[in-house]
Amino acid sequence: MGQTDHGTQHDGAGARELDPAGWALARPAVHLVAQLLRQAALSARPFRNHWWQVGLQLTPTGLRTGLLRDPTAGARGRRFELELDFRHARLSIATAEETTDIPLDGSLTVAEVYRRLTAELEPLGVRSLATTTCEIEPPVRLDQSEVPADVTAPEVRVWLGQLHAVAADFDQLLTDFYGKTSGPLLYWGSLDLAIGLFNGKPNQTPAGAGRIYRFAENAENITFSYWTDEQGRAQLCAYRTPASHADASSDYRYGAWATERGEVVCALTPGGRLYAAPEVGSLEDFLRHTTHTLARNGGWDLDALLGATPSHKESTTRSSTMSDDLSEFIDPSAVPSGTGCKECSAEGGWWFHLRRCTKCGHIGCCDSSPSQHARRHWEETGHRVLTSFEPGEEWYFDWQTGDGFDAGPRLADPQHHPLDQPAPGPASRVPANWQDLLHG
Ligand SMILES: [Zn+2]
Ligand SMILES: [Zn+2]
Repeated sequence: MGQTDHGTQHDGAGARELDPAGWALARPAVHLVAQLLRQAALSARPFRNHWWQVGLQLTPTGLRTGLLRDPTAGARGRRFELELDFRHARLSIATAEETTDIPLDGSLTVAEVYRRLTAELEPLGVRSLATTTCEIEPPVRLDQSEVPADVTAPEVRVWLGQLHAVAADFDQLLTDFYGKTSGPLLYWGSLDLAIGLFNGKPNQTPAGAGRIYRFAENAENITFSYWTDEQGRAQLCAYRTPASHADASSDYRYGAWATERGEVVCALTPGGRLYAAPEVGSLEDFLRHTTHTLARNGGWDLDALLGATPSHKESTTRSSTMSDDLSEFIDPSAVPSGTGCKECSAEGGWWFHLRRCTKCGHIGCCDSSPSQHARRHWEETGHRVLTSFEPGEEWYFDWQTGDGFDAGPRLADPQHHPLDQPAPGPASRVPANWQDLLHG
């Protein structure tokens, strides 16, 4: 690898910031050629549900449509793909046999690119390419635009680097989600990169909903959308469909994040409230908090979809410290209630792993254990934070949000059950087929 793109490295604090003036000059051409790409993709596919089936995929150097085919020739139609390559400043039309490039170095206007593209697509069965832009006010005629088709500005590389960085955070969120997901894909209207999380519940479409709504919102989903506005500011939007009353009052419904000297600040726009680090220290934190809030508001099964069970989450616990908001659920002076699960010991049961309530010292059995007494304790007392009572483990967990923490307060000794006490335990009561009896 020789030359390195600006801003393509993901350092956890977002990519390099856009220069507003440079971006204002570079953005129109990027916006218009992206819309050309999308119009071609739409023309090559049947209208089905909104435009969600034709999002653009990120590549190392730009955007591409994914596989398209001759819409007039059925399943055996010729395959082709369009790609915007910002590094080489070109729009490519690739078939199995050949690749044709249209330059995007400013030597052609958008209208000229439109004409070249329609000529290339005609033999591939795309007979008409829409001429009008979407989500640009006022709309622009693509076949008449005199804007130079020039994507060579350095700010275009910076913008692409930001998309790569956000896509990496989106990917992490998708990885932690146990349900169906989509994306990240770029939608052409606002140049927004979006992902969706689906819980699979059918949506009750409101009476009188339009065609697009009925087709698009056929399942409950949480959507995150990222875009760069005209001033080069990073914008983030999160919403749940269908919206609920709880969503409407939630601070987490819409938001924006911006980087300042490598520091990420999250601003949630309703009411202009600003959340600064450490409460929401990174885009990843923001995504996680927002997902929990929206899912909870929607009555989603958080355990099933977001993996809120500590016995499942131990391996994915984040490097983070607890917020001070949780201090009321922590009493460093509270000593452990015993060396084994309090209820199992009283009832003659057995446990797999032990958990300690950080508020009162209650020792209970984990969610994999038959009786799940740590969870019962939370449900009965509201003591929402626990820590492990297993030797060699240090992590904390918030039942209410599902957040895990690597660091937390030092609690009264002992820190774990006796080393000679087995897990599962107690030895005298663990059945031979204990592994078959664990919760999954
Ligand atoms: Zn128990
Ligand atoms: Zn407790």
